[in-house]
Amino acid sequence: MKAWWEKERLEDEIVDCRTIILSTAGCKWRRCKMCSYYLEANPKANSETILNEFREAYEKADVVKIFTSGSFFDDREVDKEVRRKIYEFLEKEGVKKLVVESRPEFITEEVVKEIQEAKIAIEVGIGVETSNDWIREKIINKGFTFQEFKRAASMLREAGSRVKAYLLLKPPLLSEEEAIKDAIQSVKDVESYVDVISLNLMTVHKNTLVEKLWSKKLYRPPWLWSAVEVLKKSKIETICDPVAGGKSRGPHNCYDCDPEFVEAIKSFSLTQDKSYLEEVECDCEELWEVSLKGESLARLPVFVF
Ligand code: SF4
Repeated sequence: MKAWWEKERLEDEIVDCRTIILSTAGCKWRRCKMCSYYLEANPKANSETILNEFREAYEKADVVKIFTSGSFFDDREVDKEVRRKIYEFLEKEGVKKLVVESRPEFITEEVVKEIQEAKIAIEVGIGVETSNDWIREKIINKGFTFQEFKRAASMLREAGSRVKAYLLLKPPLLSEEEAIKDAIQSVKDVESYVDVISLNLMTVHKNTLVEKLWSKKLYRPPWLWSAVEVLKKSKIETICDPVAGGKSRGPHNCYDCDPEFVEAIKSFSLTQDKSYLEEVECDCEELWEVSLKGESLARLPVFVF
């Protein structure tokens, strides 16, 4: 069990959020080319261990996030009776919003009913990654279509739930420039189906195709300049937490300016004030601009550091 405090937006206010990672049987799909969350799965998890973990990790907060490194609405991971107990508990505690994640195939009529009956506001994040079916299917190997995402998002919103789309900046095999274009297009394509977008900047997980490419210098995580470029163009609420920002396995620029960029992106995420993104500067902008053109021609990272 892992849990920590962070800040979260709640109807334009910045509030305290308790984030809890529950150890469950893990994601049923397990085939995405950048993900090794399955390594955190616990085959011995059951309703009792999950509820115990939740009670141990919970502390009073305005917003509670419960992540399972899989799908909260997959009964195999979190039994519906456990989910019901969690809703009841959080409602009694006066929690204002519960944030969970799910693949779209688990958003069924039954789950819609469950959300409608829960007396707590729920936000569901779906890892659609891109609106481009070819990139999602052939490169990421996500296993569902944009149409399936739209179906799930629409059902959730009709049930009164907020929906968050996770978009991935720089799937493998895309150049830096292609990745930016894909993310900007995806923001436009998902914006009418969701309430908020979370732009996820690729980090190199262990035992993945991305790690193999990265270790041979055939892949470089996105520049933070690229993240700033995408965030500036978004017209709806968009958040971004640059996990491993400034590390070679995570999104980075020249390393010198990375702390400043990470801070600016985090401040923007909390406030949605684009002036944070306008203010960042560093001489490495020129290298980034060269790599935008260079990677598309060479099909290889131009500056690997
Ligand atoms: S990215 Fe999500 S859907 Fe894909 S394998 Fe990882 S946990 Fe499962």
